[in-house]
Amino acid sequence: MSLEVAVVGSGPAGFYTADALLKSEDPQVAVDLIDRLPTPWGLVRLGVAPDHENIKAVSRAFEKTAARPGFRFFGNVEVGSTVSHEELLAIYDAVVYTVGAQTDRRLGIPGEDLPGSWPATAFVAWYNGHPDFQDLGFDLDCERVVVIGNGNVAIDCARMLALTAAELAPTDTIDDAADAIAASSLREILMLGRRGPVQAAFTPPELKELGELSDAEPVVDVRDLDLDAASKAELEADRDRARRNFDLLQEYAAREPEGKARRIVLRFLVSPVAIVGDERVEAIEIVHNELVEEEGRIVARPTGELETIPCGLVLRSVGYQGVALPGVPFDERRGVIPNTGGRVDGAARTYAAGWIKRGPSGVIGTNKKDATETVELLLADARAGLLARVESTQSLEGLLDAKGASYVEYAGWQAIDAAERAAGEPRGRPRVKLVAWEQLLRTGRPL
Ligand code: NAP
Repeated sequence: MSLEVAVVGSGPAGFYTADALLKSEDPQVAVDLIDRLPTPWGLVRLGVAPDHENIKAVSRAFEKTAARPGFRFFGNVEVGSTVSHEELLAIYDAVVYTVGAQTDRRLGIPGEDLPGSWPATAFVAWYNGHPDFQDLGFDLDCERVVVIGNGNVAIDCARMLALTAAELAPTDTIDDAADAIAASSLREILMLGRRGPVQAAFTPPELKELGELSDAEPVVDVRDLDLDAASKAELEADRDRARRNFDLLQEYAAREPEGKARRIVLRFLVSPVAIVGDERVEAIEIVHNELVEEEGRIVARPTGELETIPCGLVLRSVGYQGVALPGVPFDERRGVIPNTGGRVDGAARTYAAGWIKRGPSGVIGTNKKDATETVELLLADARAGLLARVESTQSLEGLLDAKGASYVEYAGWQAIDAAERAAGEPRGRPRVKLVAWEQLLRTGRPL
């Protein structure tokens, strides 16, 4: 028995899914990995911070997957516009969605859409060279940037804003962003956590990096480390993330100011209530919180004490959010495709893995186990004869040709990759990214 499967979305979840499918011997599986962008790797290329080159090295494992017999890549193909879910089901035995979480969660506060208030996801996509985010024109010429949220994306944004020209030089940050960050008059990056230091979602290695920057220093008020009883108990019970974070925060609070050019100030127990300004962001209004236990979870409750902090830019980093695909079931509340272990509820021969399956949490490696679970169910369904499709002679490339849709194959991506690396070499950088759609398509689809 052999199987043809479409995997939609070529980030880590897509590659781990493809890998697990291609390793199967019974049934043998051929995989077409589809992406709306001409480039693969999802957030490994366009989300992981450019100064985290070691994390991006996971792409070498993805290259091995792409070299397996039965693997094909179709870039510049969007499910929902270029091809439909129904059309994929007519061509393939099964379709696996690994599209991640395509947008940001909203705060729902006044002023959220003022010019100068951005989702962190847009800022990350801009400095990483995502072709849809190059015209945003981030104006970093202000003294204070506020980053809302206490996750690793918030830390990435804060750290990137604090890097010097010399720290940015060996990375693949796009030139516009590196120039704007280095030239900015920025003095303070203020990170706001709605709960306390013990509940922060960021992880110790990322927090530690804030203390190792060449011309920026972390600032923590020791009074923020004075814990309530519930947080103390939570800290006592934790030997890992919270404990190590707390130790680092204590160390930062004890540091003498070094007079570095930029300060990364970490504040806790404050929530934004409004972003204010006439034409653009001028300040943020925050409310002080206290922690209370609700249904076994420690949550923030506003005390009513308000404070207004002047700032020129706000980055809202409160999590990603999944987006519905036409013709595929969607749980609006959770922002995921409803599924049981990766089998999409109420949709035959349809599966999900990664953030669109479980929500936007975990690190890159988390997706391996997640994808394996989905693939095991898919293969079990195949063996049970549940993946019978109406016999069709249509192929994806035939369908795309008939529609006049141009697509980028894996060899096209390799041409993009080679061009980027060649441009980076003389500058001592891993690559200089192609950031315009027409450049990417011209390089990925040579005549
Ligand atoms: P995250 O880890 O879920 O953090 C979201 C943060 O936003 C939390 O601090 C949360 O606070 C806060 N928040 C949510 N709603 C809020 C509101 N209305 N007002 C104020 N704060 C609010 O999400 P993320 O930072 O986007 O990261 C996504 C995933 O990618 C995570 O698993 C992360 O570890 C991973 N990631 C890893 C790395 C790395 O390994 N270097 C880098 C980037 C991302 P509460 O806790 O109070 O809800």
